[in-house]
Amino acid sequence: MTNELALRDNFFKKYHAEEIQNCIQCGTCSGSCPLAPYMDYGPRQLFALIREGDMTEALNANTMWFCVSCYNCVVKCPRGISITDHMYSLKKLAAEKGVKAPKMLHLYRSFNTPIEKHGRLTDVAVMAGYGLRHPGAAFGNIPLGMKLAAKKRMEFKARTVDNIAGFKKVMEKANELERLS
Ligand code: SF4
Ligand code: SF4
Repeated sequence: MTNELALRDNFFKKYHAEEIQNCIQCGTCSGSCPLAPYMDYGPRQLFALIREGDMTEALNANTMWFCVSCYNCVVKCPRGISITDHMYSLKKLAAEKGVKAPKMLHLYRSFNTPIEKHGRLTDVAVMAGYGLRHPGAAFGNIPLGMKLAAKKRMEFKARTVDNIAGFKKVMEKANELERLS
């Protein structure tokens, strides 16, 4: 067995993803995914790669990082495959294997950092976090930011949730469970 096939089989086992083998390649998931146009491979193609054992190609795709967990695909999949869960698992596996972070990981981190600090998001904190790594993208969003600010739809001041100590304990526990999984 090649390394790629062994990696695939380990992925199936560790992340309970064997059901990907039941995919009939109907394409309903990709057709209903709002982010598919931006993905290197839609969910259908991604699962085809995995089934073929092309794990390097699958793990380097941006697909799972673009998934916004809307569950459109899951409710429509005729085989009842937990597509969204597998997207999460693929992100974890990619991180485990040290796959170079795509831009989306930076966006994800710019969401997470203010949440970890304040227990909630602040628009400006997200934009600043992402803009530091991708100034070009941030610059392009300035007109939108100004429009939102004019309509008072932009939050500038970070507000912390009431029980931030309790929130941090929950986050610590979640991170601990994540490390153990
Ligand atoms: S909708 Fe389900 S069965 Fe159809 S391609 Fe997607 S994962 Fe496979
Ligand atoms: S859950 Fe992810 S993969 Fe499924 S339709 Fe939504 S964005 Fe696409």
